[in-house]
Amino acid sequence: MLPVGLAAAQGLPARGFAADVSSGLALSALAMVLAQFVTSGRFERTTGRVGIDLTLQGHQLAARFIGVVLLLHPLLYGLPGARSVDGAGSALAGLFAAPRLATGVAAWALLLALIATAILRDRLPWCYETWRLSHGIGAALAAALGVHHAMTAGRFSADPWLAAVWVVLLAVAVGSLLRVYLLTPLLQMRHPWRVVSVSAAGSRLWELVIEPAAAFVPKFAAGQFFWLTLNRSPFSITEHPFSAASAPADLPRLKFLIKESGDFTNSIGSLPIGARAYVDGPRGIFTLAGRTGAGIGLVAGGVGIAPILGVLRQLRAEHDPRPVRLLVGNREPGQIVCADELGQIAAEADFRVRQVLSEPPPGWSGGRGVLDRQQLEALFDAPDRNRWVYFVCGPGPMMDAVERSLVSMGVPASQIVTERFRYH
Ligand SMILES: Cc1cc2nc3c(=O)[nH]c(=O)nc-3n(C[C@H](O)[C@H](O)[C@H](O)COP(=O)(O)OP(=O)(O)OC[C@H]3O[C@@H](n4cnc5c(N)ncnc54)[C@H](O)[C@@H]3O)c2cc1C
Repeated sequence: MLPVGLAAAQGLPARGFAADVSSGLALSALAMVLAQFVTSGRFERTTGRVGIDLTLQGHQLAARFIGVVLLLHPLLYGLPGARSVDGAGSALAGLFAAPRLATGVAAWALLLALIATAILRDRLPWCYETWRLSHGIGAALAAALGVHHAMTAGRFSADPWLAAVWVVLLAVAVGSLLRVYLLTPLLQMRHPWRVVSVSAAGSRLWELVIEPAAAFVPKFAAGQFFWLTLNRSPFSITEHPFSAASAPADLPRLKFLIKESGDFTNSIGSLPIGARAYVDGPRGIFTLAGRTGAGIGLVAGGVGIAPILGVLRQLRAEHDPRPVRLLVGNREPGQIVCADELGQIAAEADFRVRQVLSEPPPGWSGGRGVLDRQQLEALFDAPDRNRWVYFVCGPGPMMDAVERSLVSMGVPASQIVTERFRYH
């Protein structure tokens, strides 16, 4: 709203409701575009408090607002009766054809294309890396074009204060790109890691262990995730987020559970031992830090067990006396991981695990079906369960259902901590 405030403070004569609304919306949308470079997920200072899920939901919401404003901006100027621009045909056609608005038109088209390709990403024949590169470069270009448009064609941005705001916001946006794609890889080069082992952990599931190549011990909280670049230069754009399945107590080694789910993860099994790895992190708020609960409820679906194992292993390393219950959902027995370790923890501590299969084999003695309220109530049966803290990670629909069920059982939403591996 700062650009809108600075524009209003100029006290220029009104041009009519539609034109002034159009300008105000466009000024706030451009500021929002520039803010996305800092707030869309790669900076712990902005995401650290709310977590990556909410951060990216905020990014998607901002993109929808920007999209609506983009559609309204020329339409409001081009309303019947509005003045034509540079004497060209109808007002709306004139806007798109006017040479002095060319950078604005380019920014407009590019931003709409970015929003459309983000919404349709799963249906595009592009690999994730291509989409990510096009999204980043497109956003940087659109931001620069948008600022140029505001400063050359905008009625209010001729004001030196507002012009200064655009220059500062653009500089921060460019600086944030340099930080992520240049400075971070340079810093990572000072602390390379190496692959210690890659072993099959279940059906299409791998356990990857890495350790620092030189004496260096990172810090993280159990349940956090890291951006990993494996067997590539740290400047490559093929970094992927993975949750640590190990606990800080296991440092300097970090363990990950990785499910084959695309071109990169499908090749994890052939990663050479000793290969270089680069690590950016830790990130995320899927941790026990700052949370209290009379007991701890863990709910994992599929590879969502990874950060849950990290939390469980840390609780065990700290000899936490609180009751811990783990509900795990999978399709078939081949997907169950660490059954021996879980059995051992159950023998030593106040810990119970319930494995649920949606396609159980004959003779299966564990739970059957999906992780619904019935399964949750069967395991989380303590009288004070509403004062427990719950950690939930797994496929999106499972997480939504579990969150709804826990809330319907009386667990306050503030006691439910979630991590999503996919954003839509
Ligand atoms: C916070 C977080 C923690 C995660 N932890 C784990 C884990 O512990 N174990 C595990 O197996 N998986 C985890 N994932 C998911 C994992 O990152 C993706 O499965 C992996 O990146 C897929 O890459 P791919 O090239 O094999 O598949 P692709 O076919 O390229 O992608 C499949 C989907 O994975 C997502 N994805 C792909 N690349 C990226 C990327 N660079 N950044 C963000 N999302 C991407 C996209 O939604 C994409 O549609 C986590 C994801 C997030 C966001």
